[in-house]
Amino acid sequence: MPQNNRKPHIVCRRCKTRFSGIYCPYCGAENGVVRSVRGRGGLLAGLLRFLLSVVALSLILAIAFAILDYVASASGDGRGAARAILDSARYAIPQSVLDVYATIKVQYLDGWVASVSEFFRVLFS
Ligand SMILES: [Zn+2]
Repeated sequence: MPQNNRKPHIVCRRCKTRFSGIYCPYCGAENGVVRSVRGRGGLLAGLLRFLLSVVALSLILAIAFAILDYVASASGDGRGAARAILDSARYAIPQSVLDVYATIKVQYLDGWVASVSEFFRVLFS
């Protein structure tokens, strides 16, 4: 009498390993069914991921804007390209955001940039 009647073998759909039981001993897939990791989080996790990437993107844009702003103001009117990009960016950014940026710039960035440029001035002199 064959003993494997109550434990039928399953062929894993992911790695084609034949096994009996719940989990594939080779790749760990449940019942040999591939379960997606992404689908488990649901709508809220997807929304959270989206918001995080939006925040990260706007942070990168803000840093790029600040660098451009300092490049433009450091070189006066000589470097026209940075100034031109800044001016077109200013039209696209709401005034309230620009006001917040100006406040942050005066309170934190100016002192930070001054100390960084002082550091490089000492370093290269
Ligand atoms: Zn498997």
